[in-house]
Amino acid sequence: MSEYQALKEECCEANKQLPACNIVDLTFGNVSVADRERGVIAIKPSGVAYDSLKPEDIVVLALDAQPDENHVLDLEAIKIEGELRPSSDTPTHMRLYQAFGDILSVVHTHSRNATAYAQAGLPIPCMGTTHADYFYGEVPITRPINPEEIERHYEWETANVIIEAFQNIDPNQVNAALFHGHAPFVWGSSGAKAIENAFALEIIAEMTMKAQLLMPDAASLSQAQLDKHYLRKHGANAYYGQNT
Ligand SMILES: [Zn+2]
Repeated sequence: MSEYQALKEECCEANKQLPACNIVDLTFGNVSVADRERGVIAIKPSGVAYDSLKPEDIVVLALDAQPDENHVLDLEAIKIEGELRPSSDTPTHMRLYQAFGDILSVVHTHSRNATAYAQAGLPIPCMGTTHADYFYGEVPITRPINPEEIERHYEWETANVIIEAFQNIDPNQVNAALFHGHAPFVWGSSGAKAIENAFALEIIAEMTMKAQLLMPDAASLSQAQLDKHYLRKHGANAYYGQNT
């Protein structure tokens, strides 16, 4: 039995939740989970259908790897377990774990409504309490990635562009980013939590888009109502739900 068995099972289950939550088409989505004590991430293999995915297919790699001086990140060289090639988005996941030190799972989807915002180059403003229950403010849109970054190392620099968008945002309070011209990246404290955040993102993207269609100038939620909804579920003074 692999010492990473539990991690691989969590990763496999989270990936299977992508179609179950209807936030993926074809194979445009992947989930990774991290074990920071062991210094590894587990991620979906590239191009494998979700319904046939098994824990033994999951690829385990070193968490702290960096591209070399030629901007190459040799995924085979840092692979710890797994026969298959890891997701082509692996460098993006890895870099996000390195920069956002508390997160334990990353989800990438092309869920349709959130992706529409990414393609339009627009953030998702917080217009309602559904949004405020999950994300403490606007879900940011990144700047477009530039040709030099694409040439240098596209997937690694994708994460750096996301990290740049969080200079003044706490990634533990806004667990999602819209990568300009591409799609959302979402994270959380476990595979299940990150999937829930990705599902919530898609729901609030649809709600916000419809609200903006009905009333293009509709105001964002007040700061007081945003504070009330977010802070009653998150942080030191949370009181929503049951104590566990
Ligand atoms: Zn993608």
